[in-house]
Amino acid sequence: MRDKATPLESRLKRLITASGPIDLATYMSLCLGDPEHGYYTRHTPIGADGDFTTAPEVSQLFGELLGIWMLSVWQQSGCPSPFHLVELGPGRGTLMQDMARTIQSQPDAFAALHIHLVEISPTLRDQQAHRLESVKRPITWHDTIESLPEAPLFLIANEFFDCLPIHQWVRKGDSWHERVVGLDDNGNLAFGLGPVRALSAPSPDAETEDGAILEQSPASDAVMATLAHKLASHGGAGLFIDYGYAKPGYGDTLQAMRNHAYANPLAKPGEQDLTAHVNFSALAHAASSAIQTNPHGLTVSPAIKQGDFLLAMGLLERAGRLGAGKSAQEQEAIRDAVERLAAPDQMGSLFHCLAILPHHCPIPPLS
Ligand code: SAH
Repeated sequence: MRDKATPLESRLKRLITASGPIDLATYMSLCLGDPEHGYYTRHTPIGADGDFTTAPEVSQLFGELLGIWMLSVWQQSGCPSPFHLVELGPGRGTLMQDMARTIQSQPDAFAALHIHLVEISPTLRDQQAHRLESVKRPITWHDTIESLPEAPLFLIANEFFDCLPIHQWVRKGDSWHERVVGLDDNGNLAFGLGPVRALSAPSPDAETEDGAILEQSPASDAVMATLAHKLASHGGAGLFIDYGYAKPGYGDTLQAMRNHAYANPLAKPGEQDLTAHVNFSALAHAASSAIQTNPHGLTVSPAIKQGDFLLAMGLLERAGRLGAGKSAQEQEAIRDAVERLAAPDQMGSLFHCLAILPHHCPIPPLS
């Protein structure tokens, strides 16, 4: 028996019947961000009861190391006060809680700290407020990055860019066709090909075969350009972590997650997570172009693997300290968390880190 259509699915079918297939970016935006039926507006996505788990939920070590990184770049930037620490897509607030606890070890930094959370989900905002109640510093929520202060900003984003909408282009003959979502003969949502569209991408070459898929995320590039421009104007730094690829490539990376398992991206619109791998070379390009004129001497790092970043930041030493004096069982749990965060076959290689930071900054390994 077929599952009942979700409310958003019924609406999408009406929309497509009335005005034709929609592009993938529109489909993703509605599925994730629709104010009435979007996944992030209505669901509790993260954790054992949700659909997926993220690095800060695996271990406090992740947030603590990021807190140390942030503290160091803030000091290298001349300790601007207020210390505007901005998180994009803060989930349950766990990463910010761990970073703030680390920053608290430096009283001057903690006294200057002003937390900013850019979040679209009302449910997650409530969870963030609850989780950060014990952090006695001002917190401001923002709907978009546009309302962030015109001041030096210290930006962090973990698994944020992967939920911004993408377009996909499919090679057919000598041209690229946009991949669209339409209806099949039974009236169900189905992928199809739109008309040829001009795009600012390499024209099909010998490297690609018929059916090759090219992804672009103008929304991600625009967000990165805006953030980089803010940093170039006022100073600060940014650290962006996500699963994705460091060099441009071809392939379909759109994926849906429900109850910690992969699902069909066209099933249950609005009730499962939809993401795509992040194109770090496109993000780096957007950031570099936006900081060309930059009195604060900022630079864009190459994207490096999360495992390499965490190990260089002292993951093993910190894990050792955290485990000291703990039971064998607790030590085993810490070892498991370290594996999960840094092992190449787990999050260590697929996840990458990209930074915008002062070029004189001696902080390994992104400087
Ligand atoms: N950083 C967290 C959560 C990752 S899930 C962690 O690592 O655990 C993605 C987060 O981004 C959620 O908080 C989601 O609500 C938020 N989000 C998704 N799209 C957004 C958008 N367009 N603007 C602001 N926040 C967004």
